[in-house]
Amino acid sequence: MGKKPRRNNYDSEFKISYSRINAYTFCPFRYKLIYIDNLHTPVNADISFGHTIHATLEKFHSQKGETWDFLMECYDDSWRSGGFLTPIDAFEYYLRGQKMLSKYFDTFKQSDAEILYTEKNFDANIGKYKFIGIIDRIDRYPDGTYEIMDYKTHAKVWHQDRVDKDLQLTFYAYACKTIFGFNPDRICIYFLSQNKKIYTKRTQEDVEKAINISMTAAEQIAQENWTPNRAHCQQCDFKYKCRNSICKRKYPTPPKSKEPKLQTKLVIV
Ligand code: SF4
Repeated sequence: MGKKPRRNNYDSEFKISYSRINAYTFCPFRYKLIYIDNLHTPVNADISFGHTIHATLEKFHSQKGETWDFLMECYDDSWRSGGFLTPIDAFEYYLRGQKMLSKYFDTFKQSDAEILYTEKNFDANIGKYKFIGIIDRIDRYPDGTYEIMDYKTHAKVWHQDRVDKDLQLTFYAYACKTIFGFNPDRICIYFLSQNKKIYTKRTQEDVEKAINISMTAAEQIAQENWTPNRAHCQQCDFKYKCRNSICKRKYPTPPKSKEPKLQTKLVIV
């Protein structure tokens, strides 16, 4: 009996990305569910809201927007309504977005940086694999320095340590150098909810480490190694759908009846 032929051509067409590596390192079986079985993670309010804000800023800056009215027009045009539990929930997010964008707009008006790119696609070679990604924004300052940033829309600002270890920023730095031909002078995550940028640096050693992580993940994916990592089941969106999950839905115990028990008496007549 010959070997079972592979379903995927991992050498010439296979593309890796930060999201794929992230999914694989979280749990190989999760990667399979998303990218092989095409099971979608459920859209929730935070995901929907994040897409809206990214799309708003892309539209605003790609059309060289300058005014608050135009930013709000981009916001309304980009609004995604999926994932909200109730219309009130959606409205609260909408107001939160307006507040977030007003602080963003004030900072933007005071900045002397030129916004070179928003949502910039890149396509780099890592070994025999193609690595694809999107950089949220690249700015150039009047002194000729460059800043690259990733937008985050969730409420909490990360600690410095987490930003320093963020793999996505390392890939951004790698892409800037190898594709766009410059070393970013500043790298940051822009936490839009607090209008706060947390800056970090990346060394050549960090980039090499990130490449090793990607190559290892890509090789394992090419070998179709889907060994589940059950340590992450509790945080996984598929915890109740995945056949390898350790999480099981609790069977609801019926509530105890509060009705008083009927007292029956046997009457002999
Ligand atoms: S539920 Fe557990 S085993 Fe299944 S994909 Fe998620 S982390 Fe992996």
